[in-house]
This record gives sequence, structure tokens and C-alpha cells, in this order.
Amino acid sequence: MAPEVDSTKADSEKVDEEKTVPAAPHTAEELTGTPVVAGIVSAPVVVLGPRPLAPAGLPRIGESGRDAETERFRSAAATVAERLRGRAAHASGAAAEVLQANAAMAADRGWLSAAEKLIAAGAPAGEAAAAATEQFVEMFTRIGGMMAERVTDLRDIRDRVLAELAGDPEPGVPEPDVPSILCARDLAPADTAGLDPGRIVGLVTELGGPTSHTAIIARQLGISCVVAAAGVAAVPAGTSAMLDGSRGVLVVDPDPDVAAAAVAADVEARRRIGNWTGPGRTSDGVGVAILANVQDGAGARAARRTPAEGVGLLRTELAFLDRTVEPSVEEQSDIYAEVLEAFAGDKVVIRTLDAGSDKPLAFADHPDEANPALGVRGVRIARADPGLLTRQLDAVAVAAQRTRTSPWVMAPMIATAAEAEEFAGLVRERGLVPGVMVEIPAAALQADRILEHVDFLSIGTNDLTQYTMAADRMSPELAVLTDPWQPAVLSLVARTAEAGAAVGKPVGVCGEAAADPLLACVLVGLGVTSLSAAAAALPAVGAAVESVSARQCRSAAEAVLATTDPAAARAAAAEVLT
Ligand code: PEP
Ligand code: MG
Repeated sequence: MAPEVDSTKADSEKVDEEKTVPAAPHTAEELTGTPVVAGIVSAPVVVLGPRPLAPAGLPRIGESGRDAETERFRSAAATVAERLRGRAAHASGAAAEVLQANAAMAADRGWLSAAEKLIAAGAPAGEAAAAATEQFVEMFTRIGGMMAERVTDLRDIRDRVLAELAGDPEPGVPEPDVPSILCARDLAPADTAGLDPGRIVGLVTELGGPTSHTAIIARQLGISCVVAAAGVAAVPAGTSAMLDGSRGVLVVDPDPDVAAAAVAADVEARRRIGNWTGPGRTSDGVGVAILANVQDGAGARAARRTPAEGVGLLRTELAFLDRTVEPSVEEQSDIYAEVLEAFAGDKVVIRTLDAGSDKPLAFADHPDEANPALGVRGVRIARADPGLLTRQLDAVAVAAQRTRTSPWVMAPMIATAAEAEEFAGLVRERGLVPGVMVEIPAAALQADRILEHVDFLSIGTNDLTQYTMAADRMSPELAVLTDPWQPAVLSLVARTAEAGAAVGKPVGVCGEAAADPLLACVLVGLGVTSLSAAAAALPAVGAAVESVSARQCRSAAEAVLATTDPAAARAAAAEVLT
């Protein structure tokens, strides 16, 4: 903005004054959200393409045209399914899984025939596709949990089919010519999974939490990402912006020099990350094991190619989400043996089935519950069917024998010392090493009593945050509460780590908190002895821990515990550690 000049002064005076008036400071707007993937990028903003309007009130199709209309609908759905399948073939990990699942939904017989039935009664294809989708949306919403989460996918498929029927370009993510920052209110999983990290270098949404699909896939793709940032959807396409994924800030119209310096510093930090090969330790040599979270043998083999020193969390339930019948001991042991073989000689922590709530397993026979997150989930499924747990432990024991390894085995959702004692007994009977997850505040508060029975603890910060803050981890509206930087959550982590240190037993963190490099240093300062996260996040975590001393970590932890909200906690940690 130009400086204001007093028009009553003589022209000569004006010139002199203009020379001495300093340039107005650059004013950039900062929009703050929840940081998900670190990295600083400076680029123009792009926005999502418009979603098609659900068609309504169109004239009925005459009987003679209905077969052709059905054909038109089938062909549009098949094109959408094929496109998603094609993208899945070029993706990997969580992104490939999401795209494959969505391709399967677009080809789902139930959905196709619901729409075809409506067309047979005279509805135009677009209207039929929309109405059939809403039937399924209603059903999925009624079932709740993970199924309710698929509602966004269903509507995304509907929109793609509607655009195809109208001959319009695909709705959703644009393909810009220059690397760009994508700003959106929310993203469908298929949008995020199909992102090209060469074109979309930053991602910022108004909704979504740190454990949402968007966050998980952005982490896997390594795209700088911030979620729950109010106001970003209103930033117009073409605006220049700088996204700082570690501070959780989108700077709109930044000072170009400041942005260039920040990006250069980030490039240097990335170089350090690229060069980090482990093992995990602070700058003064205090060891902190850096481990991978995996869900099957393929994931474990991929993690083996990173600096991961072992597996800190094998989420066994994820291998069986599509099963209607409990997998046999033999089949289970094959899967566990694959993971143990990938990290033979290293630490591998196998978690028993965490079925229920957002991860229902058909064969676990979950009761109909009004509030499944507080219901029969995790180790509680063994109350009605103890065999589910003992057969799984048998399978782990067989895998251990076959691979000549000594896996650690832990139970999810332990609430009391008595539960820990009972579980530990079953694990020790089979010659395995017992531990439990700390993801319920009661377990953190009783950590010392629980440690009388088990050999290690692993803090699941995703659920510990959900249950401490009484905020659904799936709720995009509550992202500020489901932030693991909440000082109340970190106090419980501190208490748990202290209990471990008092008896010399390891206490790790295997929730998403361990994937945040700055928070990882704070966790080390709180006394955590290992950090386990998605393999892609490990180099940044390892490099961050190696860049600071154990003493700095402790000071950062102390500073964080003195705050009362996540933003202040981050600022306090950054002050000490960066
Ligand atoms: C956690 O709750 O932090 C955890 C690691 O378990 P999950 O995310 O599988 O519930
Ligand atoms: Mg959990």
C-alpha cells in the first residue's frame, strides 16, 4: 500500500518526504490450523473443481428409452470405476487401498441395481444414481463407525458418475501446470489418494483431523499438510501463499523474501532428513528406538527398507477387516510370521485384535451398541468370546516358534490392572513378552499398578486423546480437541513414562503423535523410550530427535506441560527446540 501524503504541502517538500518515509511493512494474512505433515512450500493456490448439482425434477424417460438410459448409466459407472482402478495401479499403500475400495464401490452390484431399478421405473440416469446413493448413505450412516465414514466416498463416486453422464470434466482436484497448494473445505479420500505430489505440493483443509483420511494419505505421500484451518476455502485460486506444515500455518500473500528464506531453510532441513539413517538417538547419544507401524507382511518388508529399527505396532485387525469368518490359527500365524521374518532379530510388537468402534470385524460378533467407542472394543471382545484372543495368541506363538523370534505382544484398550494381569498370564503361558497399550486415561493413571504385571507399555495417543478430551477422533469439527498436543494428554503421557522409568520398563508411543517431529522430541523429554509411526514419517522424526539434546527435550517437555492449549504448547516447544 502507498504511504499517504499531505496534499497541502509544496511539491518540493512532498518529494523530500516521500524519500524519507519507510516502505510500508508487507502485510500477510495467516490462517492457522492443525499441522499434519511438516515442510514449507511457497506456491500459488488452486481450489477444487465444482461438484455437480444433484439433478432433480427432470422429465421421466419414456419406456422405449429406458434400456438406452440404463446402458448410459452402466457405461458412466464403469468408466468411473475403471479410472479409479487405473489410479490405484499407480499408487501404493493407503492411497492404493482407498482408490481400489472406491473403484469397487463404483462397480458394486447392490448400488448399480438400485439405480437401474429406478431407471426402469422412468428416472433419468443422473437422478437414479443420486437417489440410489442416498439409499446407501442412509444405510451406512445407520450402521455408524467405519461404514459411516464411507459416506464421503459414496457421494464422491456419485459426483464422478454425474459429471461423466453430463460429459463434464471430473470434479475434484485440478491438475495445475505449476506446483501448487490445494485449499479446500474438505477432500474426499479418492481426491487425496489421487494427488500427484509433483503438482500438489501443499494441502490445507478447513475440516479433517490429524487422524483423518486426508491426513493419513498426505503423510504417506509426503505432501506438506495442515487441516482444520478455518477460512482457507475462501482463499481465491491464483493467490500466492506459503504453507508451513510444521507450524500449521497458511500465509496468504507472503513477503516474497521471507517466503524464499523459509523455503531455503526447509530445504536444508529436508537434506538432513534425507541423510538420516538411524539408529534413533539424541544429539548427546541417548537412545530412542525409532519403530514402524505396519499392518501386514508387505508393510513390514517396505518398512525394513527404511531406517526403522523394528515394528512398534502391528495392527492385526486391519488384515481381517473384510473377513466374515475368523481366520484360522494357521492362516493368522502365516501373516504374523511374515512380519517377524521381515524384522528377524529386531523388536516386533504385535497388538491383539483391536476390533470394534471404527474398526468392526464381522466375525467378532459385536453387540448393537449406542456408543461403540465406549463399548465392547479392543481386548473387551474377549469377554464374550475368550477363544478369539487365545487362538490369536496361539497363532503368534506358532509364528514365533517358526521364525525363532521373541515377539512382544500387547492388548489394546486395557482399562484396569486386573485386565493387564489376566492378559499377561495368557501371553507368558505361551512364552511371549506381555505388554499393554495405554489409551484410556484410567490406564495412564494406574500405569504403576499395571506395570506390576507387564514388561512394557505402549501409549496410543490417538485414543488416549479421544478419551481424555471426550472428543470423537473421527469428528472433523473437534480437531482442536483431538490434537495430541493438548497439555492434558501430555500430562498423562508424562505420568505413564514416569511409572515406566521408576521400574526400568520401556514405555513407547505408537499413536500419530510419534509422527510429529517436534512433538516426538517433547515425548522423549517426557521420558518415552521408543517412537513408532508410519514408515514414511520416521526419517523426519529421527532427524529431529538427533538435532536436539536430551536436556533440551526435557526443557521442552517442562515448558509444554506449563501451557493450557495446543497452540501455546507448540510455541513453547518450538522456542526451546528450534
Ligand atoms: C492409538 O489409539 O493411538 C493407536 C495406536 O491405536 P489405533 O490408532 O489403531 O486405535
Ligand atoms: Mg487405539
